[in-house]
Amino acid sequence: MHAFYADHFVLPLPSGHRFPMAKYARLRERLATELPEVALHEALPASDGELALVHTPAYIDAIAHGTLAPALQREIGFPWSPAMAERARRSVGATLQAARRVMAQGGGLAANLAGGTHHAYADKGGGFCVFNDFAVAARLMQAEHLRRHGPRAPLQVAIVDLDVHQGNGTARIFANDASVFTLSLHGAKNFPFRKEPSDLDVELPDGARDDEYLHALDLALDELERRFEPGLVLYLAGADPHEGDRLGRLKLSFDGLEARDRRVMGWAARRGLPLVFAMGGGYGHDLEATVQVQVNTYRVALEHERRWQAQAVRSATTPAGMRWHNARP
Ligand SMILES: [Zn+2]
Repeated sequence: MHAFYADHFVLPLPSGHRFPMAKYARLRERLATELPEVALHEALPASDGELALVHTPAYIDAIAHGTLAPALQREIGFPWSPAMAERARRSVGATLQAARRVMAQGGGLAANLAGGTHHAYADKGGGFCVFNDFAVAARLMQAEHLRRHGPRAPLQVAIVDLDVHQGNGTARIFANDASVFTLSLHGAKNFPFRKEPSDLDVELPDGARDDEYLHALDLALDELERRFEPGLVLYLAGADPHEGDRLGRLKLSFDGLEARDRRVMGWAARRGLPLVFAMGGGYGHDLEATVQVQVNTYRVALEHERRWQAQAVRSATTPAGMRWHNARP
């Protein structure tokens, strides 16, 4: 399984800043030692043209040159620096490369070790998000699919956002776009306090535990399935619903989060859908707990990827008429 990282583009933060930047390098370190089947690649930066599939030229330019209005820069939550701009581009690039991987192989999974920057709008950032990687990936994969297959069977993309915070930027970007389904399962009382309507929003009360969460997720996936037929799934596997999170306000256990990942990845796998996942938020009192949730996500993903690989090999040796194929070629 392939995964893309950009954590070595270190963004300088003032001392005492509450963003846990170290978690990205730590995740990469643990994957390299504990899950060597995950092939780690340095992410390429997203280009202006790719970003412009979603973001306004003025915003892209302001991020590139550090000329964003101070109030908008504060909303992002990071001070501007050339490294911040570079890191933001690479973080989108990582999701783009992961998406190209799974689309090219027609199934299976790939990942971004960061990403899931769902609070970014077309013309502004917010909540530690500069550009919206899932939104750019959805639009770019649709464009590439159109070039490859023509307009008859356009690529539909489902965004399954299970970060504890609502995917407000993503919801707004695709508000009038029927080809992308936005599902967000989040804390009702958590940031952002002005939420944007997704195609499907599921709000959870403070303190929600595993059973309640997983039941809500099952219903949400059922409804997604009734209303939409995706050819690609983008999964935001936020670690912040964990009970040890400083900002999450929910009470999911390690097992509960692993069951969550299993549900989403299993759901996509049973339908033969390629899936890209990104890490999103995670602000554990103990940074190791956040990284543990993420490592568990990779473990579950690897199980599914192995199964998919085995199936792909089997189908290559069976008669053409019986071949496994993607739900949407
Ligand atoms: Zn979050």
